[in-house]
Amino acid sequence: MANNEELFKSIISHAKEYGYIFPSSEIYDGLSAVYDYGQYGVELKNNIKQYWWKAMVQYHENIVGIDSAIFMHPTIWKASGHVDAFNDPLIDNKDSKKRYRADVLIEDHIQKIEDKINKEVEKAKKRFENFDEALFRQTNPRVVENQKKIDDITAKYADLMQRNDLAGLKQLIIDLEIACPISGTRNWTDVRQFNLMFSTQMGSVAEGADTIYLRPETAQGIFVNFLNVQKTGRMKVPFGIAQIGKAFRNEIVARQFIFRMREFEQMEMQFFVRPGEELKWFEYWKAERMKWHQALGIAPENYRFHDHEKLAHYANAATDIEFKFPFGFKELEGIHSRTNYDLSRHEEFSGKKLRYFDPETNESYVPYVVETSIGVDRMFLAVFSNAYCEEKLEDGSTRVVLRLPAMLAPIKAAVLPLVKKDGMPEKAREIMDILKPHFLCQYDEKDAIGRRYRRQDAIGTPFCITVDNQTLEDNTVTVRERDTMQQYRVSVDQLTGTLIGKM
Ligand code: ATP
Repeated sequence: MANNEELFKSIISHAKEYGYIFPSSEIYDGLSAVYDYGQYGVELKNNIKQYWWKAMVQYHENIVGIDSAIFMHPTIWKASGHVDAFNDPLIDNKDSKKRYRADVLIEDHIQKIEDKINKEVEKAKKRFENFDEALFRQTNPRVVENQKKIDDITAKYADLMQRNDLAGLKQLIIDLEIACPISGTRNWTDVRQFNLMFSTQMGSVAEGADTIYLRPETAQGIFVNFLNVQKTGRMKVPFGIAQIGKAFRNEIVARQFIFRMREFEQMEMQFFVRPGEELKWFEYWKAERMKWHQALGIAPENYRFHDHEKLAHYANAATDIEFKFPFGFKELEGIHSRTNYDLSRHEEFSGKKLRYFDPETNESYVPYVVETSIGVDRMFLAVFSNAYCEEKLEDGSTRVVLRLPAMLAPIKAAVLPLVKKDGMPEKAREIMDILKPHFLCQYDEKDAIGRRYRRQDAIGTPFCITVDNQTLEDNTVTVRERDTMQQYRVSVDQLTGTLIGKM
């Protein structure tokens, strides 16, 4: 594979070719940053959601789930701050008429300098034996100079963002000589704020209609149900409420496939704790969530924490779990200590008390909240892109294989009669009936067996079960494993248990 850009393109076309992800409304030329999940995509997505739900709700006795509506009272979004402050700074290039996020232009510029450093490091790695990367980064003049550039820009940029200084952002873009990738010019408009919420009308008569919003996050549905759940579930602090659901954001720069979509899905959990205990729980959830990711068997070096230096005004700690996507390390999940901001704001705007009486301390208080928030689609992209592999085989051919964790793979086993005669299809159907109640299987009798194996490799099916002449004699089948291509025989009686043991 020539480079990461090409690799990413291959991943996107593989997702389409094998029924994982289709562009939305494709026969009408698509709808920007909206995607549909195909027959295998929906299975992988459901398995990811189930893996999260089990880890959160089933394994934690003090976490329960809800499913709140997408439409909510419009005042919720005033209370949460989204009406006034859920903005991105946008800038247009006057020549190409293309619109960009000012912050993304600057971040891309920083990334380019970082790429230069990484190239230098890679070159040196090849040249020297016993290469000391840390020492090289500290002493190589070009690397040191570029690192200083990055540090200077990052400090300036963080300060401008914090102060919401739009004129300053434009000046920084000009000072860094950032050009529009389409027109190549630096003819920029002023930077303006753009609210990311989609709005619509509720009610049949437009004049009397109220503007309501498609929720940009699922969290607020949890906050406004905090007391309902606490009371009806007799929940004791600390406890959590989990939710999986759609969220909508009118992203200005929607690109990188399903990394940044306008309609996407979130898995969020709000954990309500005693005031003063939030930082302890923040550390707990940081560790817990990283464990969840790494339990999938994806190499740990693909994950890293990125602690926020500048915090939102309502947070007292925040970190991102970043994943190494084909386009670099980017946010996969956010973990935030949100203080009592949201519940207090909802108390203020609704006029209703959202307090918890703590029987242990005999005190009534607004609980503090630690949130974990991950995008289902981003998790899908992380798992899918990490699994995609083009492998050179000994005979010189190339095998495309999706090395998905077996637990998440859409189809767990393919049942394949070696030939379409001699009673093999009937026997294979019998085996399908044995396996079907336990996990999703696929029957396939078309094409030569080698081609069928390759097709299942490309779908990511961990096991192929082949029925051959010997099966009819001794009731054993060949199990072929996707990753190693190793084959061994298993008795049909023990097949279900053997496969479950390997998932
Ligand atoms: P980013 O900085 O990438 O825009 P964010 O910080 O705005 O993300 P949060 O508001 O913290 O994201 O949302 C929590 C999670 O929801 C993110 O970690 C990400 O996995 C997911 N997410 C957010 N926006 C999108 C989107 N437009 N498309 C897909 N997933 C998203």
